[in-house]
Amino acid sequence: MAQRATRSQRVKSQPGMASTHASSSVVAPSHASSSAVAPSQVSSAVSDPLSLQDAFTDFGTYGVFHKAVLGVFIAQSILDAQEVRRMFQQTCAACHVECPTDPREYMTALATTMGAINARIKKYHLTLKKICAEPPTINSYYCLVNKSSHGLHQQQDFFKRNELEYLLELAKEILESDGGFITSHAAGDIIISSKVTQTGAGNLLEKFARQKFIVQDEKRGRVMLGPRALAELEPLIQIKHPEAVKKCSFCQGIITVQGIKCEKCQGLCHPACLVRQLDPDSTGNVELPCSYCQANFLRETLDKYRGLAKKKCDHLEGEREDEMTRQAKADKLNFGDRGDRSGSAAAGRSNTADQTMDLI
Ligand SMILES: [Zn+2]
Ligand SMILES: [Zn+2]
Repeated sequence: MAQRATRSQRVKSQPGMASTHASSSVVAPSHASSSAVAPSQVSSAVSDPLSLQDAFTDFGTYGVFHKAVLGVFIAQSILDAQEVRRMFQQTCAACHVECPTDPREYMTALATTMGAINARIKKYHLTLKKICAEPPTINSYYCLVNKSSHGLHQQQDFFKRNELEYLLELAKEILESDGGFITSHAAGDIIISSKVTQTGAGNLLEKFARQKFIVQDEKRGRVMLGPRALAELEPLIQIKHPEAVKKCSFCQGIITVQGIKCEKCQGLCHPACLVRQLDPDSTGNVELPCSYCQANFLRETLDKYRGLAKKKCDHLEGEREDEMTRQAKADKLNFGDRGDRSGSAAAGRSNTADQTMDLI
């Protein structure tokens, strides 16, 4: 959280970045080396002197706005849906770009921005990839990944070689398991064979979990692959363990056997994709067919994820209102009450069903 606050302040502190060279501090952050994907080519590319072409014209045309967004991903590698939205709003403000307040327009602007960045970084074999979490987590992420099958080895300098070997071995064991997970005890056995000391083992698993390479279910003593492992290792997984992954029935993204299963065809989907099809305020008789076989999902499955989504939206709305209250207080203290903070206030007025889309 502390790191994100620093980033927020940095982005917000560049009000003149569209017309000055100050943006280089945004796109070439000092802690870029902490990223598992630390492509020096992109760092230098985005810190080139600004030209007329850098001025913002629209979300689909690469310029200073896109450089700033890319800079955040070079520093952090992976952001969840809420972090992406916050970053997008802050970058809009810093670049004097109007941020869409309508959730659907925001989603379109975000997808267009990501498309423009991806077209630019393709030559470095990099891409900003959307990836969904697996049950029970309802979330989606954008992750900067290297598309080559050996990208993790080539580009990252965050893990030591034996730590990386352990991560790959851990992924292999999880992918070869029947249930898409291994026990914490089994993870300990891998640590021994990878010459990672037992003392450092717990810390290493924590480190992987913080970087979203793995998910630890401490209650049940299980270790699963995290969204970043699925995003970054997908080319390798498709070559070495194609049978271990499927495509989500809604988004066609990579998914393991941990996904939500259709009772009829055994097709899998992500919680975020399922929830996007549902109105969180609806109850009872809503039916949702599987995209593969058209059989309806079980009522208890829909109720479970609708409930989880609503809980999450309520929680995030609470956080958003707290933030708006804090901002209003700060404005009052600094400038007197100017009334309208159009961006965040308008976002708070949108309806619950639409909010679900960009919150997950
Ligand atoms: Zn999906
Ligand atoms: Zn089905």
